[in-house]
Amino acid sequence: MSSLNSSHELPPLPEYTLIPVPPLVPGIPDKYLELLLPIIAYWAFSMLFHWIDVNDYFAKYRLHTPAEVLKRNHVSRYEVIRDVVIQQIVQTAVGAAINYFEPEDLLGKDDYTIAVWATRIRVAERAIPSLLGLLSVDAHTLANNLAKSHLALSGAIAGGVYPGLTQVITTAGVSRIVPGFAAWELKLAAAIYHVFIPAIQFAAAVFILDTWQYFLHRAMHMNKWLYTTFHSRHHRLYVPYAFGALYNHPFEGFLLDTLGAGLAWKVTGMTLRQGMWFYTGSTCKTVDDHCGYALPWDPLQYIFPNNAGYHDIHHQSWGIKTNFSQPFFTFWDHLLGTVWTGGDVSARYERAANAAQNKLDSSVTNTSEMSDPSPTPYDFKAHKKNELFELAESPIMAKIPAGKAKLQAETSQQQVLADKEGGGMSVLREELEEERAAEKSVRTSNHRRTASNSLKGLRQKVGSLGRKGGIIGVEKR
Ligand SMILES: [Zn+2]
Ligand SMILES: [Zn+2]
Repeated sequence: MSSLNSSHELPPLPEYTLIPVPPLVPGIPDKYLELLLPIIAYWAFSMLFHWIDVNDYFAKYRLHTPAEVLKRNHVSRYEVIRDVVIQQIVQTAVGAAINYFEPEDLLGKDDYTIAVWATRIRVAERAIPSLLGLLSVDAHTLANNLAKSHLALSGAIAGGVYPGLTQVITTAGVSRIVPGFAAWELKLAAAIYHVFIPAIQFAAAVFILDTWQYFLHRAMHMNKWLYTTFHSRHHRLYVPYAFGALYNHPFEGFLLDTLGAGLAWKVTGMTLRQGMWFYTGSTCKTVDDHCGYALPWDPLQYIFPNNAGYHDIHHQSWGIKTNFSQPFFTFWDHLLGTVWTGGDVSARYERAANAAQNKLDSSVTNTSEMSDPSPTPYDFKAHKKNELFELAESPIMAKIPAGKAKLQAETSQQQVLADKEGGGMSVLREELEEERAAEKSVRTSNHRRTASNSLKGLRQKVGSLGRKGGIIGVEKR
């Protein structure tokens, strides 16, 4: 036996028997739950935001005022729900077709795979004496010195030689003494198998989905036919809300979301169960990106640089040709120069809010039976603390060529004109009127801003701002 223990003989791999993975929810096979869970998550998560909206909680974190939700969108809630349901039907049908050919997840091979990784670790240990030799350290002497106090370390330094480390295995009724793995080798192998590999798979899937969506989304904005035929539909939501996240043309929904996520799952070799979490997670992320709130305590918005504030700029008439990245990270926008470079957007947001309030106020005046819309107090100053305005201070701002932001805003506005059905000129007209009013007020006084008489209710809303130095970022044309 001594020759066995001092040799490089590898521990044998255990035998295994495969059985189907029991379903996560008894009675519903994972194949179906994988299709169902993202839809349940979509509606549950977006209804949570809807409930926050309706009850006017967290008003200070709103990206837009309730008046904007009412007046600036060019699509009804009914149409939004209808198209989301259509996308989810297509997504479920495609998923069911793919899953039909997929083998079910099997269980029972964990110990075997961990032993395979432990074997790889053991083989890698063989290089240690040579590596120590390069540092003029004699591995065998060092291993001998450590043998009494640090047995595992001594074995690794000796090149994966563990004298005395054996196990008894029984095959076909015959017991044998064979080499065994060190506890640390098995622990490391288990960490690789249970944590490291799934983490790499999820990171790769996120990268694939981000890349797929960035380039296709950007193409949808660069090609006029693609924009007007498919993508302009999603942009009728100038003031996004949570359950409008998947409001898309069915073809776009299929191409970007369903195919993109399916591809990321397949390429990374995820199991059905992993796919279930990936689809559900990316669905929640998309909902969160359209929720209409920049919430400092929302973990999704905190972890990912691509969040509601970032994507909301892409939904504005002046930002539509920027911030194409979705749904997780923003690196493609930064690498390829499509990130919004106009810095502080608070003035633009304020003008849009004013224009919507004007529109609402005039409709209140004209419709006597309409009840008081009770506009929610909206604190723009609070927003300056949020990530939405972080771009203004980011280091890349220093490198932006002069005039780029203006060009971004102008090309964005041209794109809005391309969608005649979705408002086109009328979208820009209201914003231009408000912009002129803002410029006029800046010219009148640099210290005090006078609101027009029609801004009923709005004065209370912005009154707390103090108005020192006029409106931030108003550009002269
Ligand atoms: Zn877009
Ligand atoms: Zn969107």
